[in-house]
Amino acid sequence: MNQHFDLVIIGGGCAGLSLAYQLSQFGENCPKTLIIEEREVYTNDRTWCFWDVKEPIHRDLAPFKWNTFSIKNNHKDFEYSCNETPYLMLPSDIFYKNTLSAINSNKKIQLLTGEKLVDKVTKRDAWHIPTSKYEVELDGAPFVEDKLVLMDFDSNFKEGLAFIYCLPTSNSRALIEYTVFSEDLFTADQLTDRLLEKIGIYTQNKSYTIIRQEKGILPMGNNHIEQIDDPTYLFAGLFAGAARPSSGYAFQRIQTWSKDCAVELKNNHQLMKFKKDSWMQTWMDFLFITVIKKNPIIGAKIFVELFKNCDVRTVADFMSDHSSFWQKLKIIASLPALTFLSAIPELIRSKRRLGGSIDA
Ligand SMILES: Cc1cc2nc3c(=O)[nH]c(=O)nc-3n(C[C@H](O)[C@H](O)[C@H](O)COP(=O)(O)OP(=O)(O)OC[C@H]3O[C@@H](n4cnc5c(N)ncnc54)[C@H](O)[C@@H]3O)c2cc1C
Repeated sequence: MNQHFDLVIIGGGCAGLSLAYQLSQFGENCPKTLIIEEREVYTNDRTWCFWDVKEPIHRDLAPFKWNTFSIKNNHKDFEYSCNETPYLMLPSDIFYKNTLSAINSNKKIQLLTGEKLVDKVTKRDAWHIPTSKYEVELDGAPFVEDKLVLMDFDSNFKEGLAFIYCLPTSNSRALIEYTVFSEDLFTADQLTDRLLEKIGIYTQNKSYTIIRQEKGILPMGNNHIEQIDDPTYLFAGLFAGAARPSSGYAFQRIQTWSKDCAVELKNNHQLMKFKKDSWMQTWMDFLFITVIKKNPIIGAKIFVELFKNCDVRTVADFMSDHSSFWQKLKIIASLPALTFLSAIPELIRSKRRLGGSIDA
């Protein structure tokens, strides 16, 4: 290939395609862009969920939505309404189809699949969320379609905070996921037995078919990465700080960045880094992580208390990076004060260890 490009995107995954999609919306004013992607074909390889807060980008693509959810702990079931901020689910094949169609219809963008470029390895201090998900389809009908289980804590798992996440998409179909917040790295395969045991409970031990499987390890914690000292080169996506430190949620953060970066490229011919979170959100996230690291089992209690003492809108806004100062104070007031206060010295020690990299 002997062509000139204004922009080369290495990796046409969520971040790469999102940026190219935003650029494609500029029509003729789109910079000449090449995307180099290792995979040959795009499949339904992951599922993105987010709260319907402040018109999330690609909201209209999400075919599934829930207005109620539950949190389960120690055989107690707490149910909440999220009518004001429904929980949305977007399967990746729909996202890929939509973004690829927009990208392919702009002649200024070229996608090269099945090509790998040698990538740079970055040193990180991150905590991980290994997660193992199965989408199961059943012969019977044990799922209640509008009953989303956001967190069903597994008190038998002692090496971290573990929970089941069950997203029923019909009466006979659901995406069921086993997630662990832990400092130790578990492979998704190590979690499969626990997931299968839980699926047995959710399916009332009826026979079922596994339609699809998702696995992943997400970085949590310090999500700062040293960018190369070159304004024409930028790390983006999950490994450049896209994931929210306390939850691993990244999809909407990637969308916001790609929209802003596309405008910056069009107007000023410059790349744009991920925006830093506010200092207050950063400290709250790291305090939360410190508490869970010290005592993973307490994590379940914290989530139960949070939803019990705080309205869902405030929690959804906070999780979606849209909370006001007063909403953040409400979150703080709803959490067990002593637990969090006792974690502050450890947080300060880890801040020193990280050389202040959790500063906002
Ligand atoms: C199973 C799973 C479920 C998730 N669920 C959620 C969720 O519900 N909500 C949420 O907000 N976030 C979620 N995330 C986190 C995050 O949104 C996704 O990981 C997202 O895909 C990250 O986007 P990315 O562009 O950084 O990485 P990717 O989407 O993985 O894209 C990277 C791309 O680069 C390509 N590539 C890599 N190396 C090279 C190379 N050398 N040359 C060429 N191409 C290369 C890869 O093939 C890939 O297509 C989930 C992640 C996983 C793994």
